[in-house]
Amino acid sequence: MIDRRDALKLGGAAALVAPAMLAQAQARPRTKIVFLGTKGGPRVTMGASNPANLVMVNDTPFVIDCGMGVSHQLVAAGVPIPSIKYIFISHHHSDHNLEYGNLFYNAWAAGLSTPIHSFGPKGIEAMTKAYWELNKFDVETRIDDEGRPDPRKLLIAKDITDDGVVLQTADVKVTAFRTPHPPIMDNFAYKFETPDGTIVFSSDTAYNPKLAEFAGGADVLVHETMYLPAVDRLVAKTKNGASLKKHLMESHTSTEDVGRIAAAAGVKVLVLNHFVPGDDPLVTDENWTEDVKKNFSGRIVVAKDLMELTLPV
Ligand SMILES: [Zn+2]
Ligand SMILES: [Zn+2]
Repeated sequence: MIDRRDALKLGGAAALVAPAMLAQAQARPRTKIVFLGTKGGPRVTMGASNPANLVMVNDTPFVIDCGMGVSHQLVAAGVPIPSIKYIFISHHHSDHNLEYGNLFYNAWAAGLSTPIHSFGPKGIEAMTKAYWELNKFDVETRIDDEGRPDPRKLLIAKDITDDGVVLQTADVKVTAFRTPHPPIMDNFAYKFETPDGTIVFSSDTAYNPKLAEFAGGADVLVHETMYLPAVDRLVAKTKNGASLKKHLMESHTSTEDVGRIAAAAGVKVLVLNHFVPGDDPLVTDENWTEDVKKNFSGRIVVAKDLMELTLPV
């Protein structure tokens, strides 16, 4: 690597330095994933932020899920919010959509002038419309008073009703795949096919071998994860413990089963994400991976907030 001081030392060799620096700039990864919020569930805590992910391809940001804190985490990741072009919501649990409207609003407040396209299960179009009702006074005041563009024309929402390709750009193809997350069935995993490899986000999901087929041969599988011993600790101290445990067991995937999915899919890298529970200080990275390893022998990453993974892997 040649930094500015080295370049100055080289003096007369400056003509040689410029191409080297150019090559270095070109070596910047085109495709990366940033895990913005890794804690599963809607409670806001001092620890990890609520669910949200970012895929960057050739400087185009794609946001996947908008849990509380997504705007702040994008700023922390150094991503200007108005640069966002696409938002994908996996399902309408609040830990995945609570900041959907406000993320768009924050982009507008920071000077957004180009449209953002959003995709999600049935309801995202209605939610978008309702958002403008909720914020009618502020939005119309600022349009008149501050001369801002009308934001209602800049957020273009689309309900996804079936599996299949939902977006195709010059760089990226995004495909949705329905996966059960009882009682929610309008719930989509997303596959991003990029010039540097394929990334699959599981969404929240019950153990689903069909998801392994959808993720077959992917370079990176980002899968939700539940650690059963900590779930038992959680329900023991919760008032609605019995029904909470039933919900978690029926709608999420244990570490051991996550390993099964990754192995069946034959992915290169498995990223554990959306941790349930996401705020038990007794659970170590080793705990998260030990049962995954019983079934999957590839590379495992335990996601942390703002961790980046560059492709190709
Ligand atoms: Zn969730
Ligand atoms: Zn959920």
